[in-house]
Amino acid sequence: MSPEDVLKQVAQEVAVCQKCQLHFGRKRAVPGEGPSNAKIMFIGEGPGFYENEQGRPFVGAAGKFLEELLAGIGMRREQVFIGNVVKCRPPGNRDPLPEEIEACSNYLDRQIAAINPQIIVTLGRYSMAKYLPNAKISAVHGQSFQVNGRLLVPMYHPAAALHQPSLKADVERDFSRLPGLISKGVEAPVHQGEEDQVQPAPPPAEEKPQPKQLSLF
Ligand code: URA
Ligand code: SF4
Repeated sequence: MSPEDVLKQVAQEVAVCQKCQLHFGRKRAVPGEGPSNAKIMFIGEGPGFYENEQGRPFVGAAGKFLEELLAGIGMRREQVFIGNVVKCRPPGNRDPLPEEIEACSNYLDRQIAAINPQIIVTLGRYSMAKYLPNAKISAVHGQSFQVNGRLLVPMYHPAAALHQPSLKADVERDFSRLPGLISKGVEAPVHQGEEDQVQPAPPPAEEKPQPKQLSLF
């Protein structure tokens, strides 16, 4: 199946999925959206009120901030894949439960395998915990980790940054490192079905100041 077909198939399945209790409150499932060959994949927590209405990820206030953060590095949301650890809205926007995340993980894993992104950016604690179950987000946000040949970069959730202005600068700084990570290029030979292998990525090479070009004209 082509990556595009996998994404379509997952979207069809989550629309009618009953693998966890979150389906009771579902108006629209939110499978996630973006190109099937996206280099960067953002993984949030779960749909909120507006996402449940529209069936699209990050369309509320957090989404607006995410779009601003992307614009700050010269990117548009259409260029990245944006998804969540659970595809149906937790009632009252409560945190997703471990059994709900587990029930939904197969969909996310299939999306990741199909898209095969260079970089996975986790937004908030729940998607970070998929890869770094014991990490504290305040300690590791903005760092990069090698996971099965890709880079994982945990970041604060944009909604958290909206509610706690002290986190805003952190998120902006973490975002500003993304273009450098993309341009470095990361080989991503992914061996599907393997246990996640997580290790800190080597620190990025020192940024060399660009020599000034002297114009002759
Ligand atoms: N917050 C999330 O984590 N995901 C969304 O899709 C919207 C808000
Ligand atoms: Fe199925 Fe995921 Fe929705 Fe639960 S949250 S019903 S596992 S699609």
